[in-house]
Amino acid sequence: MGGLLITIDGPAGSGKSSVARAVAERLGVVNLNTGAAYRAVALLALRDGVSFDDATRLARLARTVDLDPEGVKIDGRPVPDPELRTPEVSAAASKISAHPELREVLLTVQRRAAEIARGRGGAVVEGRDIGTVVLPDADLKIFLSAAPEERARRRAVQSGREGELDRIRRAIETRDRQDSEREVSPLRPASDAVVLDTTGLTLDGAISKVLELAHETRSRA
Ligand code: C5P
Repeated sequence: MGGLLITIDGPAGSGKSSVARAVAERLGVVNLNTGAAYRAVALLALRDGVSFDDATRLARLARTVDLDPEGVKIDGRPVPDPELRTPEVSAAASKISAHPELREVLLTVQRRAAEIARGRGGAVVEGRDIGTVVLPDADLKIFLSAAPEERARRRAVQSGREGELDRIRRAIETRDRQDSEREVSPLRPASDAVVLDTTGLTLDGAISKVLELAHETRSRA
C-alpha cells in the first residue's frame, strides 16, 4: 500500500518541472525530477571526457548516480542544481539518453526512488517516459505539451537569456527531435495519459487543471 503516484511527461519547456513541483507541494507529496539523473550522467561524461557514443562507460557512470526525494546524488553527494542546468549539460543529456544500457541503469534508480516516495505518501514523478515505461501502473498520467515557440520563450525568460531566443529555440527543437525519434523509450504520451496543451494557459492554470485531475483520481481510489 502507499500513496498516489502521478506521472508528468512532456518536452522541454512544456511546464513539467514547475507544474510537478507546485502540484507535489499542494498535495504534500514528494516531487521526483528524473531528468536530473540523466543530467548528472551527462555532467560526469563532460567532466571525465567520456564519449557520448561509449554506452558501456556511460552506463558505468550511471551506476554512481542516485535519485531520492531530496534530489540527485553522485557517489552519495548532492549535486547543486545550477551545475545540472547549463546548456552543455542539457544537450549532452539528450544525446546520451538514447543508449538503452544507460536507460536500463537509470530505470532501476527511478523505480526505487518512486517506491520510496510512494511509501512516504506518494509522488509526482516527471520526465519523458515515466507514464510509458518507468511507472506504467501509475494512478494518474499527464502529458504536457506546448508550441515550440512558446516553450523557447518560457526557457529564455526563465534563464534571463531573452536575447538568445533563436539559439534556445533551435536547441529545444534538436532535443525534441532526439527525444522523440530515439528507438528506446521515445517521448510520447502513454495511451492512458491525459494530454494537456499549455500553450494558452498560465502556469497557475496548468497547475489547477492537474490538481483537479489529481483530486478526481484520489476520490476514485
Ligand atoms: O527533463 P529534463 O530537460 O531535465 O531532461 C534532460 C534530458 O534527459 C532530456 O532531454 C531527455 O533526453 C532525458 N530524459 C529522458 N527520460 C526521462 C527524463 C529525461 O530521456 N525520464
